[in-house]
Amino acid sequence: MTADRPFIPVAKPLVGAAERDAVIEVLESGQLAQGPRVTSFEEAFANYTGARHAVAVTNGTAALVVALQANGVGPGDEVITTPFSFIATATSIIACGARPVFVDIDPFDLNLDPDRIEEAVTEQTKAIMPVHLYGHPARIEEIRELCDEFELALIEDAAQAHGAEHNEQRVGTFGTAAFSFYPTKNMTTGEGGIITTNDEEVAERCRVIRNHGQARRYYHETFGLNWRMTDLCAAIGLVQLDHLEAWTEARIQNAIALSERIERAETPRVRQGDRHVFHQYTVRVSADRDAVQRKLETRGVGSAVHYPVPIHHQPIIQELGFGDADVPIAEQAAQTVLSLPVHPALEGADLEYIAETVDEVLAGNG
Ligand SMILES: *Cc1c(COP(=O)(O)O)cnc(C)c1O
Repeated sequence: MTADRPFIPVAKPLVGAAERDAVIEVLESGQLAQGPRVTSFEEAFANYTGARHAVAVTNGTAALVVALQANGVGPGDEVITTPFSFIATATSIIACGARPVFVDIDPFDLNLDPDRIEEAVTEQTKAIMPVHLYGHPARIEEIRELCDEFELALIEDAAQAHGAEHNEQRVGTFGTAAFSFYPTKNMTTGEGGIITTNDEEVAERCRVIRNHGQARRYYHETFGLNWRMTDLCAAIGLVQLDHLEAWTEARIQNAIALSERIERAETPRVRQGDRHVFHQYTVRVSADRDAVQRKLETRGVGSAVHYPVPIHHQPIIQELGFGDADVPIAEQAAQTVLSLPVHPALEGADLEYIAETVDEVLAGNG
C-alpha cells in the first residue's frame, strides 16, 4: 500500500501548449466554423490512414450516421453488427431508420465473428458494421469478402482504432469508416469525428449530408443536417495527429509491459499480422469484478468496464424491439472484461505498480 502514490486514471487526454496556441490562432483568425483547418485536418487524417478521402464531422456518432446514410442505409434496411460495443454503434443504425441485427463475437478479440454473419443475412440486409473494439482490428478481410459476396456496404466503426492495421493496411481503408476524437480516444479534438473512404462518390455524399444535404447553397436534394466540424476542433486535431504515432507506440509498449507482468488475469491477445493500438487494455477476470474494481480504486488504480451490458440488453434497444439476439459469447464477455490504464502518460513504475496491484487483488490479498 503506497498512500503517497498519485491515483492512476484509466484514461488521460494529453493536451499542451501547442493545442492552446493553435486554438488561439483560430480565434484570432475570425474563421471559427468549418474552414481551411478542417480541410487541412481531413487531408492529414486521410494521409495517416492511407484512405483517399476524409470528411470531418461533429463527433464519432455523427460519423457513423453520415457513413451509413452515404451508403444508402435507410428505413426498412437491416445492418448486421456486434452487440458488444458502445451504444452508438447501434443507435446510429436506428437513427437512419434501419434495424440493428446482432451477431455474436469471436472470443479471441471480442469482435464481430465473420463465421456467424452469413446466417443473419436476409433480403433486407444493407450493410455490415464491425467495430475494431479496444483498437484490435475485426476480422476485416473475411467481412469484406462477405460484403462483396452479398453486395453489402461495409461500415467500419473505427472509433477506438486510429492507426490499427491488418497486414499493414490501416483500418479505415477497407470500407467506409467512422473515427471518434472524444477526449478519451487515442487522439482528441474535444468532440469530433471523421469518415474515411476510398470511394469518391461516398465521400461526396458524406460532404453533402454533413452540410444540410446541399451540394449548392440553399438547394437541398439530399436529406442532411448540420454535422460540420469547427476549425477550432480541427486545429487541435492537427496538433494531436502529429503525436498519434508516438502515443500509439507508447500504448503498445505499455500493453506489452503489463502482459509480461500480470499473471492472475487473462491478458489481451493480438492476432498474427494485426496491429492492436490498445485504445483499451482489457483483461478478463473470473472473480467478483465489482469487488476487484473497488479494491483497485482504494489502492490508486483506475479501471473501467467496456461494456457491462451488451447492447441488445439495453432498455431502449429492447423497448424499440431490437433486443432479440442469441449471443452467449458477448454476454459472457460483458460479465468478465476489465480495462486497466494503458495510456501514453504512464511510466515504467506505474506499469509495474498496476500489474503488481492487479495480481495482489486477484490473489485475494487486496
Ligand atoms: C466513442 C465511440 C463511438 C462514438 O463516438 P463519439 O465521438 O463519442 O460520438 C462510437 N462507437 C464506438 C465503438 C466508440 O467507442
